[in-house]
This record gives sequence, C-alpha cells and structure tokens, in this order.
Amino acid sequence: MPHYKIACIPGDGIGKEVVPAGQQALEALAASQDGLSFSFQSFGWGGDWYRAHGEMMPADGLDALRGADAILFGSAGDPQIPDHVTLWGLRLKICQGFDQYANVRPTRILPGIDGPLKRCTPRDLDWVIVRENSEGEYAGVGGRAHQGHPIEVATDVSILTRAGVERIMRFAFRLAQSRPRKQLTVVTKSNAQRHGMVMWDEIALQISREFPDVRWDKELVDACTARMVNRPASLDTLVATNLHADVLSDLAAALAGSLGIAPTGNIDPERRYPSMFEPIHGSAFDIMGKGLANPVGTFWSCVMLLEHLGETAAAQRLMRAVEAVTADPRLHTGDLGGQATTAQVTEAVCRRLREPATAAA
Ligand code: NAD
Ligand code: MN
Repeated sequence: MPHYKIACIPGDGIGKEVVPAGQQALEALAASQDGLSFSFQSFGWGGDWYRAHGEMMPADGLDALRGADAILFGSAGDPQIPDHVTLWGLRLKICQGFDQYANVRPTRILPGIDGPLKRCTPRDLDWVIVRENSEGEYAGVGGRAHQGHPIEVATDVSILTRAGVERIMRFAFRLAQSRPRKQLTVVTKSNAQRHGMVMWDEIALQISREFPDVRWDKELVDACTARMVNRPASLDTLVATNLHADVLSDLAAALAGSLGIAPTGNIDPERRYPSMFEPIHGSAFDIMGKGLANPVGTFWSCVMLLEHLGETAAAQRLMRAVEAVTADPRLHTGDLGGQATTAQVTEAVCRRLREPATAAA
C-alpha cells in the first residue's frame, strides 16, 4: 500500500500558516482513502533558523531531505533579512541541489473566482507555464568590484547551456503534447539578447522536430504580456527562461484572480531527487501571523505533488474539493474580496474530503 514520506518546510511569514493547512488537507485525504498514507517531517528552516544559526538551513540539510518522496514548501522571506540571502540560502539551495530544473506553473480561473479580465471567460484561460529553473538569469554567476567607489561595477551573467535548454524544451514539448490542445508557445527575447536567446530559439526548433504533433509558435516576452491580457485563449503551454517565466507567472496568477491561488512544482523530471511543491506567493509580510492567508495555492500545490507521485485519483479528489470551496464566496479570503480565514477555508476543504467519495465529487 502506498505510503509517502513528505518533508514540510514552512519557511517564513504566511508559509508557516499555509503549509500546516496543506498537511491537514493531505491527512484528510489519506483518512478517507484506503491504501493512501503519508508521514510528515517538518523542518524549521528559514528566517528564525538564520537568527539562531547564521544560515537559512543546515549545511547538510539536503541530506535530510533526500529520502523524502516529495517536499512541501511555504515561503522564504523575512522582513529583517535581505531577500537575496533568504532566497539563495533556502529555496534556491534546494532547487539547485536537487537539480529541479523544470518549474511548472498551471493557471486556471477556478469556479467562483472573479478574474480581472472583463472579456475573458474561465474557459479562455487555461495555461501551464514551464520555467527553466536551473540556469539563465538566475544562475548566480557574476560579481561586484570597486565596492563603494564611484567606479563600482556589478554583473549578473545569464548562463544558457545547450544541455540545459535542450532538457527544458523537451520537457515543455512533452507536457504540451500531454494536454488536449497540444500547443506550445516558446517565449523569447532574441531580438535584443542576441547570443543566449538566439541559441534558445535554435534549440526550440531542433526539439520541435521530435514532436511533430505539437503546434508551436514563438513570442517575444514583452509581446507575450500583452497577448496574455488580450488573447488569453490563444495560449496553452508556455516555456520561458528563469527570469521571463518568473515575471509572466505572477501576471498569470493575477489574471486568474489572486497570487494566493497559484501553485507550482519544482520538478526533477528524471526523479533522481525529491521534487518540491509550493504556492508561488511569498511571505506576505502585510498579513502574516493573522490567519488571513489564502491556503488555496498550497492545496493546489498538494494536487501537483499527488500527480507527481502518480496518485491521480487522490489529486482529482483534492482539486474537486478545492473547486467546491472556491465556488462559495463565503469561503473567500481577503485577497479574493472575502472575509474567510485560513482555518475556515482549510476546514471546509477537509470536510469535503471526509465526505463519501461520490458526495465529494
Ligand atoms: P508576496 O507574495 O509575499 O505578497 C504580495 C501581495 O500578495 C501581498 O499584498 C500579500 O498579502 C498578497 N498575498 C500573497 N499571498 C497571499 C495569500 N496566500 N493570501 C492572501 N494574500 C496573499 O510578495 P512580496 O510582498 O513581493 O514578497 C514578500 C517576501 O516574500 C519577500 O521577502 C520576498 O522575497 C519573499 N518571496 C518569497 C517567495 C518564495 O519563497 N517562493 C516568492 C515570492 C516572494
Ligand atoms: Mn517570483
């Protein structure tokens, strides 16, 4: 009988509120489905750990995670610690250490959610953004010299490798192929960035030949933002570099109603290491500690986690429960214009999961 070891890293801010909510939902799923069980191990890494130990996670932290079947992550970001320290010290350390090179970000307008685009019906917006998650603009290559002097210089060098681009393109084409429309948009900026992005385009064309049944096109990243707003139905699966997809996916989340809903998976497609699932939002300093965070992004991330584990039925059951809850405006949190608390939304989802399978559908 399948038993999964889930490592939980709540991190900072509202991560500490939404990750326990996600764990509760997974527990409710297991309690109501024969043959599905989880054990959870929680790691108190993040800003508090940094204050106590001078680092965001222990040096051998990756070894503690290695045996997990999947990781559920909250957020890294603390008002008292610079953002580049929290990000590089925890989340990126795990993404890079476990070579989770494909960051997958589905976007849909869930039932009951009022998206900001007035000419867009929920059916018009159904995207998956694939973000290159291991190199590009966030490779960490660069430096500073002459610090504090007028001639000070700082560089961030974008690194694109043939192997890195080939593997993310292949992943994106395969994902597009698995979706009903079999359509991929390759996001680029090869007009202005005439080295790396030109190679990116060349490799897209090369890999496309392995997928003759996938229709694909190219779009410059700036034009892509306008297309997302003006012609959302013309997009299905997108693939973009680390920075480009970072920006596009926050736009996508906002167009789907709220940053609080959007999920993501940091995936090692070769399954050499555990993959990591997280809501795309951050620590939300303005609402942290108040019990007001929307847990839906974390629930949806748990759906992705279950899909990754091959637990398709459980994934669908959780998604149905989440959709039933978003459909009820009384269960909307503040980011959706409602007044519900994290606990109320979580309890509503768990209650649905505990109902007999047919009634929950
Ligand atoms: P943020 O996502 O934390 O917040 C942006 C806005 O959205 C805020 O007004 C917040 O209240 C709201 N919001 C976000 N998630 C919500 C939810 N679940 N429910 C209700 N409202 C929600 O982004 P930010 O303010 O730019 O960043 C705050 C901190 O988080 C920074 O330190 C940043 O570096 C960090 N951060 C971390 C991650 C991550 O760990 N993956 C991602 C983004 C930002
Ligand atoms: Mn981001």
